[in-house]
Amino acid sequence: MDVTFLGTGTSQGIPIIGSEHPVCLSNDSKDKRLRVSILITWNDLNILIDCGPDFRQQMLANNVQKLDAIFYTHEHNDHTAGLDDIRPFFFRQGDIPVFAHQRVLTALRKRFDYIFTTENKYPGAPGVTEHIIENKPFSFHGLTVTPVEFMHNRLQVFGFRVEDFAYLTDLKTIEEQEIEKLRDLKVLVVSALRIEPHHSHFNLEEALEFIEKVQPEKAYLTHISHMLGFHEEVEKDLPANVHLAYDNLKITV
Ligand SMILES: [Zn+2]
Repeated sequence: MDVTFLGTGTSQGIPIIGSEHPVCLSNDSKDKRLRVSILITWNDLNILIDCGPDFRQQMLANNVQKLDAIFYTHEHNDHTAGLDDIRPFFFRQGDIPVFAHQRVLTALRKRFDYIFTTENKYPGAPGVTEHIIENKPFSFHGLTVTPVEFMHNRLQVFGFRVEDFAYLTDLKTIEEQEIEKLRDLKVLVVSALRIEPHHSHFNLEEALEFIEKVQPEKAYLTHISHMLGFHEEVEKDLPANVHLAYDNLKITV
């Protein structure tokens, strides 16, 4: 199984438009972060987690030829705004399966009614098939996917465990029984927004405490704001098994 980090930035991306913050002005390519998303490649299947506003660029940058499903974590725009750009995949493959919590599907239907409608559909509009995710494991083409539930302030969010890999973004609080699902991981990806505390995201300290508790072999941090600091400087102070993810990083699990 391969995992590609398509985007590792927080909601505005890095650089922020018009910002003169030193991290936004950095020349290091690892300091340039599109909105968060990963691509899981398992055998011949390409599974996208979240489809944010940078989706098109991310597909082009990684030469993605087909899309077998989109799994959504939650409905915030930085995770969902790119859905219209599935059109090239839709034209080649037909309806694209989307998997999400019932509440997230309702939100998507409202925002992208022309995609979800079945009547008088505009000829160039893409199509999807809807699949509801509940908080229990489901099978996708023989791959077992275990949703992991947690809270983003007061909003429920799903993370996903696939084999020995788990991806948890936009996390602030999580119950013990959900942490139980994260035993014996080879790789854990978890969000870490910045140094200062935040009302709906782990800061760096909380993310590191969580990793310490879960004890994966290796961990990567994502959903990073310019306020976390320069990639190179933050990276060198992390524990040996923890790394900052960066855009287009590819790992094999
Ligand atoms: Zn987010």
